[in-house]
Amino acid sequence: MRIQRIDVYQLRYGLHDKRYAWSGGHAVTGFTTTIVKISTDDGIAGYGEVCPLGSGYMEAHPAGVPAGIRELGPVLLGRDPTKPREINAAMDAALGGHHYVKSPVDIACWDILGQAAGLPVATMLGGRLVDDYPLYRAISQGSPEAMAEDVQRYRAEGYRRFQLKVGANPDDDVRRVEAALAVTQPGDVVVADANTGWLPHQAIRLVHALRDRDYYLEQPCTTLAECLTVRAHTPQPMVIDELITGVGPFLDAWEKGAMDGINIKISRVGGLTKAKQLRDLCESLGIVMTIEDSWGGDLATTAIAHLAGSTRPEYLFTSTDFNSYVDVTIADDAPRREEGRLRVPSGPGLGIRVDDQRLGSPLLSIS
Ligand code: MG
Repeated sequence: MRIQRIDVYQLRYGLHDKRYAWSGGHAVTGFTTTIVKISTDDGIAGYGEVCPLGSGYMEAHPAGVPAGIRELGPVLLGRDPTKPREINAAMDAALGGHHYVKSPVDIACWDILGQAAGLPVATMLGGRLVDDYPLYRAISQGSPEAMAEDVQRYRAEGYRRFQLKVGANPDDDVRRVEAALAVTQPGDVVVADANTGWLPHQAIRLVHALRDRDYYLEQPCTTLAECLTVRAHTPQPMVIDELITGVGPFLDAWEKGAMDGINIKISRVGGLTKAKQLRDLCESLGIVMTIEDSWGGDLATTAIAHLAGSTRPEYLFTSTDFNSYVDVTIADDAPRREEGRLRVPSGPGLGIRVDDQRLGSPLLSIS
């Protein structure tokens, strides 16, 4: 089987909640997402998605995706998409870094591989171990009262895990965490995610103020050294997110005892092939995982579902359903949240049918 054609589409997503805010005064009111369709000479087509959280969150921006794929196109045409590891090696040789550009290509190849084998991607990733799994809801940064209201509203919709966007003034952040804890119940999980927003002295004040509270702390500061400084002060479990860009940085953080959990964002590490490698390492090392991406819609959510659904459940800390945050649907049969959980698709490949009509005209076609 050979790659015959690559089409790149960009779509604009709005947010049902209108606005999403996190540390450092960052906020977005919508997203530009990129969908990559790979067509083969035997009629199978695969899809992938990458949706950066704006341009200021990580090393990724929407305009970079078509530019990068234009670079990769000549290397990909004619290659066998049922060999994702070979495809990754070819992409890495042709374009240094730019993990997020390679991610939708890699996901589309897994979609093709699964369809060719007649098996769900989850099965190809090691086994479809669960039918569904628990989700978290990201709670946009706002006043403590507004955030507590959002927690209650989403709790009523079935979520039991909440990721509070903190990383602002630590005195306000203490009140944000207290307000959320006041409206949750035993068994619920609350994560205070600073998205690198604090300096160590700020994070240290917060963790001392919340010393006896039951919550998880996620990526307090930018650098590993800063996070380790905070870790020495906090009895709570810690999750590292933004620093996990691949196996090397993960092992560095693990060796230094930086975390009890990590956040694997599929596009940040370059796709399912590399995310699976990290996932398998975490299972061996006793590290729990939030498995997700920077953002996305039906395709990104479905790719996440296959990786999360092939992860041993005791290691899956949580995951999220980005397609319930955004106002565009491109696959009517994509998994949708039910009672705070998401179903793992069981059809071949990604197991969803993308409606090409809703993608519009391709921004870029390579054949
Ligand atoms: Mg995070």
